[in-house]
Amino acid sequence: MKKIRTRFAPSPTGSMHIGNLRTAFYAYALAKHEDGEFILRVEDTDKKREVEGGVADIKDLVTLFGLKWDEFYIQSERLALYKKAAEDLVKSGHAFYCQCEAKNAKREGFSSDKRDRCRDKGLTSGAIKLKVPENETVKFRDFVLREEVSWNTNVVFDATLLKSDGFPTYHLAVVVDDHDMSISHVLRGHDWLPSTPIHLLVYKYLGYEVPEIGHLTDILDPEGGKLSKRKGSTSVRGLLSEGYLPEAIFNFVILAGWAPKDNRELFTLEDFVKNFDISGFQKSNPIFNREKLDWFNGHYIRQKSDSELLDLFDRFLPEGADAVKVKEIIPLIKDRVKKLSDFGPFAGFFFESPKVDKKLLGKNYRDHLKKAVEAIEKNISLDRVPEENSYKIGDFFMDLRVAITGSRFTPPINESVKILGKEESLRRLREVLE
Ligand code: GLU
Repeated sequence: MKKIRTRFAPSPTGSMHIGNLRTAFYAYALAKHEDGEFILRVEDTDKKREVEGGVADIKDLVTLFGLKWDEFYIQSERLALYKKAAEDLVKSGHAFYCQCEAKNAKREGFSSDKRDRCRDKGLTSGAIKLKVPENETVKFRDFVLREEVSWNTNVVFDATLLKSDGFPTYHLAVVVDDHDMSISHVLRGHDWLPSTPIHLLVYKYLGYEVPEIGHLTDILDPEGGKLSKRKGSTSVRGLLSEGYLPEAIFNFVILAGWAPKDNRELFTLEDFVKNFDISGFQKSNPIFNREKLDWFNGHYIRQKSDSELLDLFDRFLPEGADAVKVKEIIPLIKDRVKKLSDFGPFAGFFFESPKVDKKLLGKNYRDHLKKAVEAIEKNISLDRVPEENSYKIGDFFMDLRVAITGSRFTPPINESVKILGKEESLRRLREVLE
């Protein structure tokens, strides 16, 4: 059997979207399940859109998620290969030189015309474009959608293959590279499906064998439409900086578009590789379900030891937070936080005196807090106060909680008072009583 070789081919044009990361996970698992090879290829031929540090960021993220590439390529270092392929296509009559700039063509009303006006001019320099044949059918079987997709070439435009600056377009570079790198399975986002007929023609005219090609579903926004950068944090870096763990992002993302045979939900990369099967690809578009992501994140946070969490929370701590105190707090909040960034909302009161909204206090709050002050002063357990004064336990502790923390949702209040210390707890209670 032919060796499975897949590739992840991101462009260094901005922050990586979770949809792209998902493609990487699937491509990796597809190869590694069969002991195949996974290739990282940076598609940096659109120099205008490239962002500084983009290549390093791609490598860092792929590494952070544990994907090890067997080979690495960068397209801008391979220009001679694309140029030769484009010239070969001109020689064989399947491509032509063009000297009209795309922008001018649009202004002059050529954009709606699929056929380029230079196509029969016999020019000998300029950009190189594909000479799309009239009225032919191009088709392939999509291994993700599990169906045949076909086009009449009359809807395919004479795509640019090589720009006049010598850089290839995506259409040429992707075909030349997938062939040159012996890629057996191409996996990419659904957005790229309209490009596939162009690629199929290029494969045919260059005499290359067409690999298996599959287009992944789009991840949808819960409010409708495709998940996009405009609609909140969908970039991988964005999620990491919100305090989502890589383990949780991984687990969430692989299940957005793929399902195992059993109902298993928790996967490490290793488990995923072991269980991967292309029949698990879903045909319907998954919805980005934030609650699900939070659930995974909470799960993986709880798997961490307290000392691991001390490191992980580091970026999210209030300025100057004392590590000894943070260590005491972690066991109290570990079961409650969904994101690392929840440290502030849950535990910020340990470091900064809260503003207490008196509307959150019950009608008997003055009695409750006075007795709490007395108990703390005399080192008597707070648990005894409601019983001895016939207070409702819930009401008493809620007033105490609000006065000490400013919030109704906090870590256990008895332990919190202990960590906060006698002096500070009393100071806060007295302040509310003033
Ligand atoms: N460079 C393309 C991207 O950024 C790759 C598409 C493909 O895999 O063919 O998604």
